[in-house]
Amino acid sequence: MQALVVCGDDSECVRFVADHPDPTAAPGEVLIRVALAGVCATDLEIVRGYMHFAGVMGHEFVGTVVDGPEHLAGRRVVAEINCVCGQCDLCRHGLSNHCPNRTVLGIAGRDGAFAEFVAVPARNCHIVPDTITDQQAVFTEPLAERRVAVDELVTAVYPLAQGVEALAAAARPEHIKVLLQPGVA
Ligand SMILES: [Zn+2]
Ligand SMILES: [Zn+2]
Repeated sequence: MQALVVCGDDSECVRFVADHPDPTAAPGEVLIRVALAGVCATDLEIVRGYMHFAGVMGHEFVGTVVDGPEHLAGRRVVAEINCVCGQCDLCRHGLSNHCPNRTVLGIAGRDGAFAEFVAVPARNCHIVPDTITDQQAVFTEPLAERRVAVDELVTAVYPLAQGVEALAAAARPEHIKVLLQPGVA
């Protein structure tokens, strides 16, 4: 599959890979075909070595579940980015925010959404109502994080294959919100 991959050191090495292995959904996870993904400031930090994250970047996205339980299969979803184990003592006692096995999509220990497919825990998914477009839904995570009015954002959509150029565009000071679209030429 197509993917935008970062090396995890401070060499600012990020590259588009046309034939990255597809992710597989572990038990309790779903496989999502990414429709649109958003570039945010955290991604630009990651390119510079933040978190020493190595792998597929990206945590803001909307997509369709291609493999998962019945209530999610075929549905358009967004996903929470913090992935917890659900099984350790802290998770069992409702303290999953402190789960020692926690991974974060495209940020820590787990491949992200700048790719054609991403695997996330089923419990992280939220179904997107039909009345909300992909371009609106992709802002769910940044909106949950801090209040921004979608209408105030100027967006530029790049094919994922131009992901490196898109990251450069996102780093410019005009505050253009850059979106990535996998699977298109
Ligand atoms: Zn973000
Ligand atoms: Zn846990």
